[in-house]
Amino acid sequence: MTVSAQLERTHFVVVGAGGLGCPALLGLSAAGARRITVVDPDRVETSNLQRQVLFSVSDVGRPKADAAVWRLRQRIPALRADAQVRALSPDDVDSFLADLSDDAIVLECTDDPHLKFALNDGALRHGTPVVIGAALGLRGQCIAVRAGGACYRCIYETPPDDLPTCASAGVLGVAVGLAGFVMASAAVSLCDTAHARETTGTLLAFDVRDGSMQTLSPRPRADCPACAAAASPRFPTLQATA
Ligand SMILES: [Zn+2]
Repeated sequence: MTVSAQLERTHFVVVGAGGLGCPALLGLSAAGARRITVVDPDRVETSNLQRQVLFSVSDVGRPKADAAVWRLRQRIPALRADAQVRALSPDDVDSFLADLSDDAIVLECTDDPHLKFALNDGALRHGTPVVIGAALGLRGQCIAVRAGGACYRCIYETPPDDLPTCASAGVLGVAVGLAGFVMASAAVSLCDTAHARETTGTLLAFDVRDGSMQTLSPRPRADCPACAAAASPRFPTLQATA
């Protein structure tokens, strides 16, 4: 199957339609994705408009998931997109992942570290690839997780107790925008048999101050409980490269 055919077939599930999710959705749709679900419980606020680039003044007060789907369909009428106006909690992750098809890739675009760990662990258990991103200040990062490579928990082990948030520490719009596009690029790479293996477990970290981009390929941690519980990937392209 060609990459473009796999992109059209893949169900991209974007959790969080904020500063990361908006550019990730634009990147996915520009790359050729044609099946997208957007999950977010919040409504658009005026203060969101600068960084959350899918929304405009007329969207203020609407659920972000609905507004994002509407905007994507305006750009690409053939897009099969649906909205889930809901909060995904760490406790819901297993049932959420169990309902996804074998063609699903999840993009974790929230600013909730507990949800990032829960989706990392759950996605490994269910064999669903997940791309996890973050941006803070002038820096951003992204990792694509599936069995066989280092996972988010291999690198960070546990959620931090006192991680600063974008609200408390600030984030430059261009940093979070770049992180979202990098996440879309990583998700697209998972659809490409030629690049899926090298993308898996690779941590991309950038700093917009000096324009640096680091590509780190840590080994899976031998005592990582998430990796120990990992199932074989359900995703077609990854089955071929597992
Ligand atoms: Zn791990």
